Amino acid sequence: MTTTTATDPTATDPAGIDLAGIDPAVLRDDLDAYARALRAWLASEPVLDQWRGRHYPNTEERIADHGRFMGVLFRAGWNRYGWPESAGGLGGDERHRAIFYDALSAAGLPIPAPHLMLETLGPPVVHFAPELATAYLPAYLRGDEWWGQGFSEPEAGSDLASLRCRARREGDTYILSGSKLWTSHGATSSRLVCLVRTGTPESRHRGLSMIFLDADTPGVTIRPIALASGENELAEVFFDDAVVPASNLVGAEGKGWAVAMYLLQWERAMYAWICAADALRRLRDLRGQVATRLAAGARLPDGSAARLGTVYEQIIALRSRSAATVRRLAAGDTVGPEASVDKVLLATVEIALFDLARDLLGTEFVLGATDEVAAWRNEWWFSRSATILGGSAEVQRTIIADHVLGLPKEAK
Ligand SMILES: Cc1cc2nc3c(=O)[nH]c(=O)nc-3n(C[C@H](O)[C@H](O)[C@H](O)COP(=O)(O)OP(=O)(O)OC[C@H]3O[C@@H](n4cnc5c(N)ncnc54)[C@H](O)[C@@H]3O)c2cc1C
Repeated sequence: MTTTTATDPTATDPAGIDLAGIDPAVLRDDLDAYARALRAWLASEPVLDQWRGRHYPNTEERIADHGRFMGVLFRAGWNRYGWPESAGGLGGDERHRAIFYDALSAAGLPIPAPHLMLETLGPPVVHFAPELATAYLPAYLRGDEWWGQGFSEPEAGSDLASLRCRARREGDTYILSGSKLWTSHGATSSRLVCLVRTGTPESRHRGLSMIFLDADTPGVTIRPIALASGENELAEVFFDDAVVPASNLVGAEGKGWAVAMYLLQWERAMYAWICAADALRRLRDLRGQVATRLAAGARLPDGSAARLGTVYEQIIALRSRSAATVRRLAAGDTVGPEASVDKVLLATVEIALFDLARDLLGTEFVLGATDEVAAWRNEWWFSRSATILGGSAEVQRTIIADHVLGLPKEAK
């Protein structure tokens, strides 16, 4: 790859990472010790205060600042657990990552935005292209770069197997032409992991391959999409005969569908865990704001306390389900169509939580000019996509009906 500099995973290791003086091997092998040490560090490290309750004017500043936050977490060692040492990690499994997300939220800190795509794209790259993971994942964990997922296209979303973006083999390269749509963090990503067609147009899922490329490869154009919230964290990506080394395949040629199905386990399951952790922090914030308003004499709509309780229940249901799924991933189980249950529960939580915030904050939600209220509004807009991104709610329910419950097909 011409435009990329490979990273030595050990190059940025400080002489001794500062895991509160504890032997890294102990934290890798003992989850309770990891959780305790991490919580103690989060509670006592003053540098972290800058990320508590912080709001940003736009997506670019938020994601760049979250990258800096990842740098702090990486240098201290904490976000390296759960990732293999060959890819800049310190060993351990998904349970370390789940504890990490949980501890951040419990400490009133955001989960750094690049971790969302890391959870989706990291595991398949580690599994199917370990040499690419060794070269590039350390920089991701350090927050120096992040990647975008190029699957959806204008005519291929739910029906992903119909995608048309093409990769033509020429010598030891692929030539990419076509486009991708709705690439999260696309405008600021350094690399892209794209599902492309290497077979005939009719080959459906049998003719797909997964490829990893630099976002600044000549012939790649990325245009941010302005969202209703004013944020632009999604992008369109255009490929105009972009040349990518054949060695950048993730998995074998023609086997991209299997890589995509492998990836979906984390895209649905770990994302659900992150949402539950983050939702608990947001619910605590909301309860605090409501208490302040009540103390100032405000009145809440009837039934508000019951709705707060219901949202809490929904988050705990998601968390319970998700904990079981995380344990399965950590044990190396294949989490198939069942991950759709986690996805449906997470969408339920997202919609209910942000609708509750809208209703409890009332007029202030609509007109309030503070950064805090603006953040609630932005996140309310984003929560509308919870039933679409990563596979729509209708499609998830069909998967559950057909492949989990084995219900009879609907009569046409
Ligand atoms: C915030 C956000 C972030 C995203 N990030 C990414 C990303 O990083 N990378 C990426 O590749 N994509 C991303 N996407 C795209 C996402 O994966 C697609 O939007 C999703 O798969 C749906 O595809 P579509 O938008 O083409 O809708 P369509 O597939 O056209 O669906 C339109 C409607 O028809 C319904 N429908 C379609 N097929 C069926 C069916 N068989 N049965 C019942 N109902 C059906 C759907 O439920 C939906 O309501 C993102 C989307 C959003 C909103």
